[in-house]
Amino acid sequence: MSARRAQELETRSWKLDTEGSILEVQHWRSDSGIQHSVSNVNQALQQAIARLDTVTSTPRLEAEVLLGYVLHVSRTALLTHPEYALTSNQISDYQNLIRSRASGYPLPYLTGYSEFYGLTFDVTPEVLIPRPETETLVDLALARQPATVVDVGTGSGCIAVSLAFHLPEATVTAIEISPAALAVAQRNAERHGVTGRVRLMVGDVLNPRPSQVDLIVSNPPYIPTDKCASLPASVRDFEPRLALDGGAEGLEVIQQLLAQAPAVLRPGGGLLVEIGADQGETVSHLARTLFPQATVRVHPDLAGRDRVLEVRT
Ligand code: GLN
Repeated sequence: MSARRAQELETRSWKLDTEGSILEVQHWRSDSGIQHSVSNVNQALQQAIARLDTVTSTPRLEAEVLLGYVLHVSRTALLTHPEYALTSNQISDYQNLIRSRASGYPLPYLTGYSEFYGLTFDVTPEVLIPRPETETLVDLALARQPATVVDVGTGSGCIAVSLAFHLPEATVTAIEISPAALAVAQRNAERHGVTGRVRLMVGDVLNPRPSQVDLIVSNPPYIPTDKCASLPASVRDFEPRLALDGGAEGLEVIQQLLAQAPAVLRPGGGLLVEIGADQGETVSHLARTLFPQATVRVHPDLAGRDRVLEVRT
């Protein structure tokens, strides 16, 4: 190789690095002119981890998940074969994913799945990514052993499908205003074998009105509109606004739900609604006004913050 060619390649390599490319397919040693492939699993991971460091507190985990996704292997397989050489297609696929993730795009939208309550759920940018806080609501719902449930704003269907999965006798009606989100919920019901007991309906809160049930559950949008701008960029820029924005005080959908619930609850039925950490007092007051005979409680999430409103009629 001519000295000039070697210099060109070195320059190109340097430029790619400063632009933030995570991998260089080929590296040329200008001293001997020998071409080396430098892209094995370990090197790919190291460079990706460095790249993801600013967007996530778990860069290694995410770099491994994404490489496993590209190679169709488990994270364990990656760790036991750090020397495995990547093809140029695998490198460019990985590079594109790492670039998207480094721009803040959420990991579950890249891989197409997310874990919730021990189950794997399909997710797309049309649905909210299931959150661990919402598992508290599922715990409380399962403890009540309802035979019939309505899930309002089902999104990915994570609540409705988890309940149907763990309550083999129960039937669940899952309502969602976005048909695109409902299609994801449908796939999740199929994935977990509960289509026979999860009825999916396009609707706005409790319209059209479903038949009466033992329990209404919901993780409604509850972020006040003016706080949406200060959400973490990965949420604000990529997750559906419809699933987050609860109007001026963040309580618009919760208010509608509480107002419409009596017509849908069987005598002795109840409600479990996810709320914002600073909404406990306001929503308890609202619930006591609308359900003067009921028992009203606010339950904390695992972090100890107010998270679930419970109404027992
Ligand atoms: N029920 C879904 C969840 O809890 C969607 C909630 C929503 O879109 N606000 O993740």
